[in-house]
Amino acid sequence: MTAMLALTSSAALADAKNPKIGFSIDDLRVERWTRDRDFFIAAAEKQGAKVFVQSADASEQRQISQIENLISRGVDVLVIVPFNATVLNNTVKEAKKAGIKVLSYDRLILNADIDAYISFDNEKVGEMQAEGVVKLQPKGNYYLLGGAPTDNNAKMLREGQMKVLKPFIDKGDIKVVGQQWVKDWSASEALSIVENALTANGNKIDAIVASNDGTAGGAIQALAAQKLAGKVPVSGQDADLAAVKRVIAGTQSMTVYKPLKTIAAEAAKLAVQLARNEKPAYNSSYDNGLKKVSTVLLKPTPLTKANVNILVDDGFYTKAQLGN
Ligand code: BGC
Repeated sequence: MTAMLALTSSAALADAKNPKIGFSIDDLRVERWTRDRDFFIAAAEKQGAKVFVQSADASEQRQISQIENLISRGVDVLVIVPFNATVLNNTVKEAKKAGIKVLSYDRLILNADIDAYISFDNEKVGEMQAEGVVKLQPKGNYYLLGGAPTDNNAKMLREGQMKVLKPFIDKGDIKVVGQQWVKDWSASEALSIVENALTANGNKIDAIVASNDGTAGGAIQALAAQKLAGKVPVSGQDADLAAVKRVIAGTQSMTVYKPLKTIAAEAAKLAVQLARNEKPAYNSSYDNGLKKVSTVLLKPTPLTKANVNILVDDGFYTKAQLGN
């Protein structure tokens, strides 16, 4: 009995020292998430953890079975970028039953018993996007290109955008001529939405509030086909390389820089602390419908041509990558 106890506690100690982390990512086909993955693994391994990564490629069923697989592999913590915020309730229950801690990464998992959430302030990102566009075009016909309807961030971004736009709408200066959520944040879907919007409005669209760089890329392609690229302000977020190049070229007005190394390193620290039953330092909390979730909220930075160099100073890109 004593030997057995000793065995259990030394195994538990080894676990705490070298926790196993399952990282379930919505979609590694999207540029930013591959960077999150790489930074996360580097930071977690530095702390003695081992990371198992899975990509659901925008399928909620695949994500659920991948998480179940990670649970059966005996991970200590699950770090999840949910594809669909609303369908993981039962899977999280299974994890909790197995004693596994759950950290929601970048996107909030709704109505589930998760332990913690880490993200950039998405409402603030939405404000920055609307501000970036309004500064250039305080009047006229606006099109709102939202994120994926399955992603809680899309709604938070819209709330931030509306906070800025509402006074202009109320004054009658800005007219929202259309708004659409973009399935899976797909660039090609964004392209056809904006093509249709341009046709429906006889090209009279004066500004587009796009919720990320992928969808901004689609929108700008549609504008370019009508020789309007660079004339109609468009927002974004992520500082994707292609988007930063568009910002430099003047076809995209702004993007929002979210240092992925920071969120990945903070998340790795948080995951390891959860595994070791330590008390992480939180600075916010979000209601996910079931509970108030302890949250680490990080600061985004608006990025235009004027401050693009911070990406080089920060080591996010090299000067050569930006071509200047
Ligand atoms: C993230 C964005 C990203 C988008 C599409 C959102 O939840 O916050 O950074 O562009 O998903 O992957």
